[in-house]
Amino acid sequence: MTPATDLPLPADEATVISALETVIAETVAPAAEAVDREGTFPAPSLQVLAQAGLGGLLMPATLGGRGTSTATYAEALARVAAACGSTSTVYMTQMHCAHPLHLLGRADQHETWIPALCSGAAVGAIALTEPEAGSDVASMRTTARRDGDSYVINGEKTFISNGDVADIIVLFATVDPGLGKDGITAFLIDTAETDGLEAGKPMKKLGQKGASTVTLSFVDCRVPVGARLGAEGEGYPLLLRSVTKSRISAAAQGVGFAQGAFDAVVGHCAERGLLSSRNRSAQDLQFELARLRAEIAAGRSMLREVCELVDASDEDPTAEVSMVKLHCTALGVRTASACVELLGDDGDRDDIGAERRLRDAKITEIYDGTNQVQSMLVARDIRLSAQA
Ligand SMILES: Cc1cc2nc3c(=O)[nH]c(=O)nc-3n(C[C@H](O)[C@H](O)[C@H](O)COP(=O)(O)OP(=O)(O)OC[C@H]3O[C@@H](n4cnc5c(N)ncnc54)[C@H](O)[C@@H]3O)c2cc1C
Repeated sequence: MTPATDLPLPADEATVISALETVIAETVAPAAEAVDREGTFPAPSLQVLAQAGLGGLLMPATLGGRGTSTATYAEALARVAAACGSTSTVYMTQMHCAHPLHLLGRADQHETWIPALCSGAAVGAIALTEPEAGSDVASMRTTARRDGDSYVINGEKTFISNGDVADIIVLFATVDPGLGKDGITAFLIDTAETDGLEAGKPMKKLGQKGASTVTLSFVDCRVPVGARLGAEGEGYPLLLRSVTKSRISAAAQGVGFAQGAFDAVVGHCAERGLLSSRNRSAQDLQFELARLRAEIAAGRSMLREVCELVDASDEDPTAEVSMVKLHCTALGVRTASACVELLGDDGDRDDIGAERRLRDAKITEIYDGTNQVQSMLVARDIRLSAQA
């Protein structure tokens, strides 16, 4: 561990992080390079994390989770991301599925799925994005038409993480496109019990190559009324609460990718005696590492502060969440890029790990709401605050 991760952790969090570090060192980190190179879904890493009781950090202990704070979850995710970007996306997607289910599900829905997601017995996904509805999710076109005791779902979702391997999918669809966001309704799709659902092939991607991302087609896909999550029209507020957590996840990944790239460079330079050398070019390198370490520590502190705000308030602090998503995902890309540059020609080598973190980091600026959209939300908050 390098000093940038040495910000003090609360005692209860230290226990979780210490268990996590063991799993990372023994399983997640050693597999990361091959997961990236071969694009294999990191099921073993996910299973080992879950078996160590780290699979459902935010879920209550009564449902198989750990009931941790958002800050602990974010710190854990940042550390998984530092080791393996693909595993971090699969791991956070489990939580992105469990969280809305926990917020709006009935007791029987909780009991069927949340312990399974926490233990790794089930893989989860969340499906919002459509080919023509990404940033503007309210314009989604996937329909769920009521037909007696069922809903019949038609439409297409795209860029769905874990979509081809999911046992359970939290799906957002509209019961009436004419109602705009008031028609958006959430459903729990049990993939083993659902006909008419087809997953496309995993997309070839810049980074996070082992985390599968697919299109999902729903053709006259019939689900029982009991598969609905909450009431008709309750999907949009649920979606807003879901993206709060997923933006925190993207921010945590940003911190993690920055840390992972930094650690890779420090390890490489230490082996070559560059951290102790007093010659001029080695000192330039040392000073740049010092600057990067300070930036990572600042991003990590901001992440913690916003997580604490999320847990402390009844209303999600939209602008603060957007700011931390903007800041920390840009930190990931900027730091990983600086680390690749610091390595000179070696920065292009795939056995050191800086270039992997750079590739893994880029998409965090785009998914979970692009950073332009986050800027828009922050700008709106500035305008409203100025008018108040
Ligand atoms: C690897 C990966 C995994 C993903 N996983 C999931 C998942 O599990 N579930 C899921 O539902 N989705 C997932 N997504 C989708 C992701 O969240 C969306 O791609 C993202 O929110 C952006 O939507 P879009 O691609 O439709 O972009 P668009 O909304 O089409 O935006 C295109 C461009 O226009 C800009 N833009 C759009 N609106 C505005 C505006 N009002 N003002 C200024 N600029 C604007 C955007 O910033 C962007 O640059 C994933 C995507 C990727 C790449």
